[in-house]
Amino acid sequence: MQQTLVIFKPSAVQRGLIGQILTRFEQKGLKIVAMKMATLSEEILREHYAHLVDRPFFPFILASMTASPVVLMVLEGVDAIKVVRLLTGATNSREALPGTIRGDFSMSGQENVIHASSSPEDAQAEVARFFTPDEIHHWTPLMTPTLYSPDGK
Ligand code: ADP
Repeated sequence: MQQTLVIFKPSAVQRGLIGQILTRFEQKGLKIVAMKMATLSEEILREHYAHLVDRPFFPFILASMTASPVVLMVLEGVDAIKVVRLLTGATNSREALPGTIRGDFSMSGQENVIHASSSPEDAQAEVARFFTPDEIHHWTPLMTPTLYSPDGK
């Protein structure tokens, strides 16, 4: 099992897309193990987007990500990091395939509605950045035997 961090960006919250996007994850069979609303500080955004702070568009990212509260969640499942990135689609929403979240809900390279961890290392750091251990819930959905084979495949 893997855990991955998803942020519903202000571009999803402001447009009233939380429910529709969350449904995509639920119907895929991903387990929600943590979820909350928060207003992100510049400090945590500088840490989260450290690989982009020197890019000319970083001020736009800061303004965009602080335009409203966001919804943060941790999703769990077999290969969850890759599965969620596939559901998310390409960074530039205009190139994201139809059927993906970005492909279906957005038109921009910046206002691309959600963030999703891109590697096991990033996922571990990002979950710890936004959630304390006691905010992560350990539970077994009743549908689990209908989602995976007995050996977890
Ligand atoms: P991803 O979110 O797909 O992992 P990156 O880590 O490269 O992609 O970028 C983080 C976020 O920064 C993107 O989701 C997007 O909101 C913003 N971003 C990336 N590249 C650009 C760009 N060229 N112009 C404006 N915003 C960008």
